[in-house]
Formats: sequence, C-alpha cells, structure tokens
Amino acid sequence: MKYLLALDQGTTSSRAIVYDATCTALATAQREFTQFFPQPGWVEHDALEIWRSVEATAREAIAKAGISAAEIAAIGITNQRETIVLWDRATGEPVAPAIVWQDRRTADYMTALAEGGKEPFIQQRTGLLLDSYFSASKLHWLLRAVPNARERAAAGELAAGTIDAWLIFKLTGGRAHATDVTNASRTMLMNIHAGDWDDDLLALFDIPRAILPRIVANGVPLAETDADILGASVPVCAGVGDQQAALFGQLCVRPGLVKCTYGTGCFMLEFTGPNPVASRHRLLTTVAWKLGDAPLQYALEGSVFVGGAAIQWLRDGLKIIRSAPEVNTLAAEVPDAGGVMLVPAFTGLGAPYWDPSARGVLLGVTRGTTAAHIARATLDGIAYEVADLLLAMEKDSGHRVSTLRVDGGASASDLLMQIQADQLGVPVERPRNVETTALGAAMMAGLGAGFWSDVADLHAVRAVDKTFQPTTTAAQRRAGLKTWRKAIKRARGWAL
Ligand code: ADP
Repeated sequence: MKYLLALDQGTTSSRAIVYDATCTALATAQREFTQFFPQPGWVEHDALEIWRSVEATAREAIAKAGISAAEIAAIGITNQRETIVLWDRATGEPVAPAIVWQDRRTADYMTALAEGGKEPFIQQRTGLLLDSYFSASKLHWLLRAVPNARERAAAGELAAGTIDAWLIFKLTGGRAHATDVTNASRTMLMNIHAGDWDDDLLALFDIPRAILPRIVANGVPLAETDADILGASVPVCAGVGDQQAALFGQLCVRPGLVKCTYGTGCFMLEFTGPNPVASRHRLLTTVAWKLGDAPLQYALEGSVFVGGAAIQWLRDGLKIIRSAPEVNTLAAEVPDAGGVMLVPAFTGLGAPYWDPSARGVLLGVTRGTTAAHIARATLDGIAYEVADLLLAMEKDSGHRVSTLRVDGGASASDLLMQIQADQLGVPVERPRNVETTALGAAMMAGLGAGFWSDVADLHAVRAVDKTFQPTTTAAQRRAGLKTWRKAIKRARGWAL
C-alpha cells in the first residue's frame, strides 16, 4: 500500500493524480466536461457526466502510473464547492441538473432574505454572507422545481449533497452518503460552531434533514470503493473543499498563515486555528478542516471573481497576446503602467466589496498608452484586488501577515508575484508544486492512511521554489493604494 490517489473535481474539469509516499506526483489524467447555460445567469452541470469523468480519469491515472488499485492506500477527494446535486437513492441517478456555484437564479430570493434582516443571523451561524453562491438557496429551488421532490424526499427516496457527497455515493456503490465539514460549511445549512446541520437554518430554507448526508471529519477513511470501479476496493476519505485543500497543501497549519490561489478567480484563506474569527470586513468565516478527532479548525476567506481571467481577456477579448504567459513579456516591455489602471471588475466586485453593480474600468489612458501598459495595468489590477483581501484579513484578524504563500496557474508569473510583493510590502512565497489542491487532498488521505503520524511530518513534502521580496517603500505603497481606491470608486455602480 504505497500510493495515494487524489481526485480533484473542479468547475470545468476533473483530474486524478497518483502520488507516492513522498507526495511526488507519478501520473495525472484530466478530462473536461460540459458547462450548461440554459438561461442568462444559470450554470448547470450533468452530475453523471462529472461522475464518469472522475471514474475515467481515476482509471487512466492508475494505468499511467503503472500500479494496481490494490496498491492504493487511500483516495482523497477535493472538489468545486457549493455546487449541489439532488439524486434518487435507489437508482443513483440525478433527478435534475446540478446547480453550479456560479448560478445566480436564486439571487432575488437571497436579496429578499437580506431585506428581511436575516444576514446577521446567517453570518453568526454559518460565517457566510447572504448570497446565492452558497448551496442552501439552490437546494431550496430544486425541491420546489423538481416534480414530487418534497413527497419523494419525505419518503426517503432522494439524497442531496455537494459534489464530494455525490462522488462518495457513486464510488461506494451507494453505501455511503457523507460530506465533510469543509464542504458542509459552504452550504449555509451547517452551524460552523457545532459542526452539524442547524435546525433553524433547515427550517428557514425548508430543507428536510433526511435528504442531507452525515457530516464527517477530514482524512478519515469512511468506506471502501466498489471493487468493480477501479479493479480493487480502496478506502475513500471524506472530501475537502478545493480552497481548504489548497490551504492544507500549502501547509498553512499555524494561525496567521495565509495562501492565495491565482486561478480564474483569486482565493485567499488565512488559517485562524480553533477560533472562528467573525469578519467585520465582509470576508467569510469558514471551516478549514477537522482532522480525525481533533477539534474543528477555521479560516477567514476572501475571493475575487476575476483574477487570471483578466489575462484571458487580454488574449481572447483584446487579442493583444496569443497565450497567457505572453502577458509577462508584453508587460515587461514597460517599467510601469504609465499611469494606466485597470479594475478587472468584469462581473462585479467580490470581497471585500460584494458589489454586483461594479464593472471593469480602464483609467488614465493617453495617446502614449500602448498594449504593454495595458498588460502591465492588468497585472497591477489583479494584484491590487488581492491586496484588498489581505488588508481586510489583517483588519479582521488583528495582526500583520508575514508572508503570502501563492499557488494556481497565474502564480507562474514572476512579474505578477513581484508586483504583489511590492504592493503589499510582504514577501511572496511560491512552492515548487503549485498544484496544492490535489496535494492537500492527498496529504489528508495519507494522514488517514498512516503515511505520516503527524502534520509536522508533512513539512518535508513542501519545497519552496522562489520567494519574491518587496522592493518598495511604505510611502510608495500608500500612494499606489490611494490611486487604486480612486479607481474602485469609478468602477462601482456602473451597471445600476
Ligand atoms: P482554474 O483552476 O481556475 O481553471 P488555473 O489555476 O489553471 O485556473 O489558472 C489558470 C489561469 O492562470 C488562467 O486564467 C491564465 O490566464 C493564468 N495563467 C496561466 N499561466 C500563466 C502565466 N505564465 N502567466 C500569467 N498567467 C497565467
């Protein structure tokens, strides 16, 4: 039993990675699946297609690694969070398309709850803000829209869950209906202090408890896979939400350690230990993990919707670069953005503003402005969005962050990372392995399988690639932030 298998089920693709006992990746398989946009603002997935993509990539990665499933000690699942599936327990078939976290169909319903004054109560119980992003309103919608769903739920015929719970159900041939504390903390139905479904929240969203999975800890094998699926039965650990997995994969396991993932969007989490820090700056309080019998651990989270996606816009919208990495050579042609500033609020602003009425703005354009300045301003804009998250986190947690650990596709940009360090006045540290999501899930599975006896043993697994040191003065940083704030003001309210 020498290997670990991580199943990384993301928003646009599913990946499987086989790791050895030192957490070195031996083989990877990846498959994209269909995104459905049936109406403006709606985003759906076919849960069966997702399951097939996971099954296929798992088999492919095992074959590529040249191992047999019997040699895998444990499977660790990590997944896109909040997306909700409703399925028939007996047939194992979804009864409706999965509603994806990006889906806005319940926005009005959530606005009505906010206007009814429910936000303080929700924030106190769940650490979340009233937004259709989370699962509760989506499940509420499904139970109304699917014919006979209420009666069938009452008769015990239906099961619901986030993607982790769906995959565990399928992997175990329907024997396990379980979710983990991190995924449950994003549903808006779990009391994050108690770590269990909350009767008041279930009543508010009118969700019968019987359709929900049981909530379990991370890194603990909870059932075996059906032998037919991979050729041998393998212990499956509970899932872990993708951002929490990345936090663990970055070994942010001491209070105050922070990571930021630069993907399509940017996600920053700060580990706060056993204390759930209530945010006063519109960040989220979320469960970081629960390792076996140890107490619940928490994190503060802030996310921005458009991060690396702004670079894709330079490529696909403006067509001033042909590939994402080209942004770096283009931006490096100029020493700075020449007074140009881009706020990449293309779909509104996320934390700490939460302003759906904002739109992107490009300011300070002159006759001398070139594509290189715009490329540079794009990198600046991404970094400023992230700087806003870090500043809000420092205010909430009451202490200065000493280093920012980074990962995700756009963290490959040395220029972006240097700009980030310069804006923050804080060193930015990039690990050698930036695939921290799958790594974190594998580490948790490995802990459960006894590969390591303690989290401290994992430090040997994480190697640093490069640390970017700030080169700016405090006065320069203050001046930069002041200009950014001016630009943010211009971006807000544009779509009203
Ligand atoms: P996701 O998991 O959200 O799909 P990834 O972590 O794969 O995203 O990161 C993809 C993003 O990273 C894309 O938006 C792309 O623009 C950006 N990106 C990839 N490579 C580079 C690079 N060398 N320099 C800058 N940005 C990059």
